[in-house]
Amino acid sequence: MDTITHFINGAAVDTRSGRYGPVFNPALGEQVARVALGTADEVGAAVAAAAAAFPAWANTPPLARARVLFKYLELCQKHTEDFAQMLTREHGKTLADARGEVARGIEVVEFAVGIPQMLKGEFTDQIARGIDAWSMRMPLGVVAGITPFNFPVMVPMWMFPIAIACGNTFVLKPSERDPSPSLLHARLLKEAGLPDGVFNVVQGDKVCVDALLDHPEVQAVSFVGSTPIAEYIYARGSANGKRVQALGGAKNHMVVMPDADMEMAVDAIIGAAYGSAGERCMAISVVVAVGDAGDQLIGAVAERTAALKVRDGLDPEAEMGPIVTRAAKERIEELIGSGVAEGARLVVDGRNYQVAGREGGFFVGGTLFDHVRTDMRIYKEEIFGPVLCVVRAPDIASAVEMINANEYGNGVAVFTRDGGVAREFVRQIQVGMVGVNVPLPVPMAFNSFGGWKRSLFGDHHAYGPEGVRFYTRHKAVMQRWPNTASAGVQFAFPQMK
Ligand code: NAD
Repeated sequence: MDTITHFINGAAVDTRSGRYGPVFNPALGEQVARVALGTADEVGAAVAAAAAAFPAWANTPPLARARVLFKYLELCQKHTEDFAQMLTREHGKTLADARGEVARGIEVVEFAVGIPQMLKGEFTDQIARGIDAWSMRMPLGVVAGITPFNFPVMVPMWMFPIAIACGNTFVLKPSERDPSPSLLHARLLKEAGLPDGVFNVVQGDKVCVDALLDHPEVQAVSFVGSTPIAEYIYARGSANGKRVQALGGAKNHMVVMPDADMEMAVDAIIGAAYGSAGERCMAISVVVAVGDAGDQLIGAVAERTAALKVRDGLDPEAEMGPIVTRAAKERIEELIGSGVAEGARLVVDGRNYQVAGREGGFFVGGTLFDHVRTDMRIYKEEIFGPVLCVVRAPDIASAVEMINANEYGNGVAVFTRDGGVAREFVRQIQVGMVGVNVPLPVPMAFNSFGGWKRSLFGDHHAYGPEGVRFYTRHKAVMQRWPNTASAGVQFAFPQMK
């Protein structure tokens, strides 16, 4: 059985502690590899390698750094299919979706190769007689990224291309569920000419994460994952004096007004609720149907949900693959049961779903609830599976009130033909990313991604200009040359003359 190793200082390294975790192919329900689980030992070695590589990398001209990333970009394009296959085998998502994930990650690298443009400071001539001032954006040092299972290629790419382009060195702690793509990133970066130690991977679990959070040499931590862990990372990392951005979970609502284009709305609901089996932080998990919109759309949504092609993600016909682990499948099915017990109407039941030839796989079929109430667990908890809840609301004001009261604030959408309703919705809604007749408003690489409320802890959103701000610090410089006359000793603030 393959062992998925760490990658430290330019070389694959096995674990020293003898700790390993299983990696499954979720479509088969079988273990396909084992992953090394690091301890403070490997974290120490990776941080030491990153710290040693930092001075030379920070001193490398930004354009030369960008050129390494340009080579890496070409290699990612060449290896898209390798990434996608790896992704489908360990995560389960369909190949088409996996290719899309790789493409979205590549877009961040395309942004990162232009980062020299964003590192320019501002210059002010003559702030006083003979004195000029300017600002610079400097790298932080060793920075760490801790990433979730659901985008094992793309989410690390939200982080390291930007951090590295800005002159930092990086330690990645990927999800232990689907760790293989992290090593392909490492190999391609090395092939592109990245010096050893600039990018390191430590595989592992909480033991590893805690070692990174406590390591005095780690200057900043980027995290993406569930809300309880995001909050923990933020608290422990910032208590240790680190800069932290911690993106958490979500419960994304899509409001459908009675005047919406219902065909467009139903297509959007099916793709956004069941794409990647609902294992997306931007998945739509709640439809808020206003007025008679619920009656207009429930029949079509039910029909399409029941007809979803749930298969092994490698099957070209598959629209939805399996759930990542048996534990996640059982958690989702238990939550479906709670919805029934609490009185929601189960319109399509995806429990005990069987796929021919894949009887051991961790499959859950598309599931649809109608008449869900906000006090039910299926409304309150992030299910992170192919379960869609329809809540009925009398008017737009109560829909907005419901969404603003929700603890999460990642993504939201409104479907309507009324521009005035859409405009007010955009202005009033307490959510970080908003779509108008767009179900998954995921910002492009040159914008920035992030939620509000308990969907993000920290000040900066991810990637784009916010990513550059996160991975650099501002320095203000004032300069005078001795060809100007000395003003003599000054004990008070100088006055402009
Ligand atoms: P998770 O929180 O279980 O794990 C994320 C990372 O934290 C992994 O690397 C894991 O090893 C580590 N981790 C897990 N438990 C830990 C602990 N007790 N202490 C320290 N580290 C720990 O999340 P997941 O199940 O891998 O991913 C799904 C979650 O991520 C969902 O909640 C989803 O909404 C969220 N997510 C959010 C975004 C976003 O941009 N906001 C994007 C993708 C996923």
